[in-house]
Amino acid sequence: MSLTTVHTVADLRATVAAWRAEGLRVALVPTMGALHNGHISLTKLAREHADRVIVSIFVNPTQFGPTEDFGAYPRTLPDDQKRLDAGGVELCFAPSVDEMYPDGFATNVSVDDAMTTVLCGAARPGHFDGVAQIVTKLLLQALPDCAIFGQKDYQQLMVIRRFSKDLNIPVEIIGAKILREEDGLAMSSRNRYLSPEERAIAPTLNRVLAEITTKASSGAELGPLLAKGRQDILTAGFNPIDYLEVRDAQTLEQVDETVTKPARIFVAAHLGKARLIDNHAITPIDIAG
Ligand code: AMP
Repeated sequence: MSLTTVHTVADLRATVAAWRAEGLRVALVPTMGALHNGHISLTKLAREHADRVIVSIFVNPTQFGPTEDFGAYPRTLPDDQKRLDAGGVELCFAPSVDEMYPDGFATNVSVDDAMTTVLCGAARPGHFDGVAQIVTKLLLQALPDCAIFGQKDYQQLMVIRRFSKDLNIPVEIIGAKILREEDGLAMSSRNRYLSPEERAIAPTLNRVLAEITTKASSGAELGPLLAKGRQDILTAGFNPIDYLEVRDAQTLEQVDETVTKPARIFVAAHLGKARLIDNHAITPIDIAG
């Protein structure tokens, strides 16, 4: 079955209704396009859970701040369609801004939990309101059996789990592991912003996270580890660092001294025009056994 692309909610719903009439299971993979192998890995995981896979491509204006890269964000629909077709995806949903936010649109979705005020929530005010708004719409438009989101955006995944539970959205939310380049850099559409020199520096983030993860999982004190990590990231050429923090894997509450339960280390830092994010799981060795 080759890829079909639709641009309206009505066409999306008609396609899903036809599949439902055949008793097929449906998965949705929301993206902003400029697809890379990380996105394609989500479609493979989607395939393990469903008979039909939808990938949405929409650069959502409401999740960008006024000085952020909404205008510059890469838009590569023909190339994305080729990748999706080669990856065996059945449907691409690529709506316009007017289709998603028609005249008179007036509804916000806001997650009133401390987890939205830290990390990217602190660095990008309003970002998670925009994410919650668009993901709620996409889930209700497609009403898939499941939707796949990458742990690359771990905080986003936690926020999505929160509002879909709170709003009783009948869609299973599935997290997918982070796909990396061979040198460890987490794949991202924003890696396209990097010059060759910056691209050579970028894997520092993953290296620093890996080093802290190893030491923190054996019980090392976090203060000195994070101080050294910050220094290493700045010395490599990143500036500024938005955050380098260890937080509880579920609640995203800050972990101050040592890691005694499942945690995560998170980083966001600027390199040239790119703001890169990454994270690793920290499992204390007495739990990991
Ligand atoms: P984006 O297009 O950047 O909004 O990402 C769309 C989805 O792909 C989100 O659920 C991301 O977490 C996920 N994603 C982005 N990069 C990666 C990656 N390197 N590995 C796994 N998932 C990713």
